[in-house]
Amino acid sequence: MVNALKLGQGPSTAIAIPNIVNFYRYFFPMRTHYCGELRASHIDKNVTLYGWVDRCRDHGGVIFIDLRDRSGVVQIASNPIQTPDSYPIAEGLHNEYVIKVTGVVSQRPSESINPKLGTGEIEIYADRIELLNQVSKPLPFLVSGDETELVKEELRLKYRYLELRRDRLSRNLQLRHQVVKAIRRFLEDEQDFIEIETPILTRSTPEGARDYLVPSRVNPSQWYALPQSPQLFKQLLMVSGFDRYYQIARCFRDEDLRADRQPEFTQLDMEMSFLSQEEILNLNESLVCHIFKTVKQIDLPRPFPRLTYAESMNRYGCDRPDTRFGLELVNVSDLFKDSGFKVFSGAIKSGGSVKVLPIPGGNEAFSNVRIKPGGDIFKEATEAGAKGIAYIRVRDNNEIDTIGAIKDNLSPEQVETLLTLTNAKSGDLLLFGAGDTDTVHKSLSRLRLVVGEELGLIDANQVNLVWVTDFPMFEWNADEKRFEALHHPFTAPNPEDLADLTTARAQAYDLVYNGVEIGGGSLRIYQRDIQEKVFETIGLSLDEAKSKFGFLLEAFEYGTPPHGGIAYGLDRLVMLLAGEASIRDVIAFPKTQQARCLLTDAPAQVDTKQLKELQVMSTYQPKP
Ligand code: ASP
Repeated sequence: MVNALKLGQGPSTAIAIPNIVNFYRYFFPMRTHYCGELRASHIDKNVTLYGWVDRCRDHGGVIFIDLRDRSGVVQIASNPIQTPDSYPIAEGLHNEYVIKVTGVVSQRPSESINPKLGTGEIEIYADRIELLNQVSKPLPFLVSGDETELVKEELRLKYRYLELRRDRLSRNLQLRHQVVKAIRRFLEDEQDFIEIETPILTRSTPEGARDYLVPSRVNPSQWYALPQSPQLFKQLLMVSGFDRYYQIARCFRDEDLRADRQPEFTQLDMEMSFLSQEEILNLNESLVCHIFKTVKQIDLPRPFPRLTYAESMNRYGCDRPDTRFGLELVNVSDLFKDSGFKVFSGAIKSGGSVKVLPIPGGNEAFSNVRIKPGGDIFKEATEAGAKGIAYIRVRDNNEIDTIGAIKDNLSPEQVETLLTLTNAKSGDLLLFGAGDTDTVHKSLSRLRLVVGEELGLIDANQVNLVWVTDFPMFEWNADEKRFEALHHPFTAPNPEDLADLTTARAQAYDLVYNGVEIGGGSLRIYQRDIQEKVFETIGLSLDEAKSKFGFLLEAFEYGTPPHGGIAYGLDRLVMLLAGEASIRDVIAFPKTQQARCLLTDAPAQVDTKQLKELQVMSTYQPKP
């Protein structure tokens, strides 16, 4: 501590008091600027910079060094005439050496101005260069330059600390920090939220994924679960009266890592008492607007549009619609319920539906070969569960062109109604989904995205935020033949729907950003009788419920305020703000699809002694 207090003192004092901090200060005076912040306005200023050698170029007598720190790069120059002290050191520099540079900022000659670089107008002739550290092994890959893109992800993850020196990832992590900072400023300073940490070693939480388990040494045969979210604790904090809680919370879910998931990820977790759903959505809109304004200088239009779950499914076939483009689905079940085309009428008779994805101008873009078996559009539909796709092409004078039984079973009146319903014109293509409604939605919503992308209908610069509300309370789990809570079993039903909970709407909401769900939450149940009914509906006996969440149910007996909350996937939000396609690119040390950390090589085997202490034995048998 004493040493640290001397930090601000000058070199002479530093010599007088020989301690390691002052020694360091004397030889390495304070940095005056970050490399990337220097501009023409700094010309003639004497600066001291620290950083890594991004690249060196020897231009016959002048050595140019791109010096990099987390803010960017700046050009350093040295030659034997102007900077005789630094030149011999500059000659010996290589990529990724760590140096300190002192010199005066000067204007670059006009022919060497680089307009692509923030610091491109200036350079620094180095009066002094100090070599602070060198690289003693061959670099596994070049940190700078274009070749980095070609480096395999495995190698980049193994040497993640080097990859994090690269501009793109460094910027992403700094953006992440800006987002978190904006969140904290808004919630704490403007909305009176307080951050409270909740346990990592805990019991299973109700999010429904598989738990990560940790054995307890002092309680043999008993296990903690890592939290899938702070759900139960944040509700308890409402019982305690904290009223407005938030946490940047690490969550753990042991899921099969399809697509872009991480076993541990970060949520912005919030819970509020005494607020209506309307007030919660409002407050959250202000929060999201604040984030966009602070980190992207974007003013989002308010209020955010809202769609009920039913509307969203109907129009887009999914509950997280990308509303940056149209291509809305049209339900044509009524038109085809008595059709002689059995694929359609049969689907409707067995409780399903027939829907159309109308594609304006689609005839030209999507050939029959692409739609028929073997084609890419066919594949997209079948991968989403459809058995195939029927299609109709609209030609001039409302003539239609199609194949197979569909055509023979369409009367001229039906064609007319179909074209009216779908607003189809000459040149348009109609893709049909028929079957159980769920599959129709899955396949057509997938095709909608593929088509929207291919036809260039999606503006990458547009930001569309939509609330999806009124989710169903439950979904039917056909394998286990029981209802499951769609959100979690503490979500409150709509008071208008209490008569039959199985079809009730929940007071639950998701925030969707350009087709990606970035947040979701609900009002919670705080009355015992409703909670019991919900447990009953999902087939959870009161005894089971007590053994799982007894502590919460008991807490609810001691005066529980009406409350509700939301959690945002911070990684996803930052990914979208950074314009990245993977959350791995906004997490400092992510894991692979096999949930491995290639840098530390975790997970790893442990000593038998450790397992004995834990009284744990592996049953794993390697496959012969
Ligand atoms: N705990 C919920 C989740 O992780 C969010 C919430 O209801 O607040 O999805």
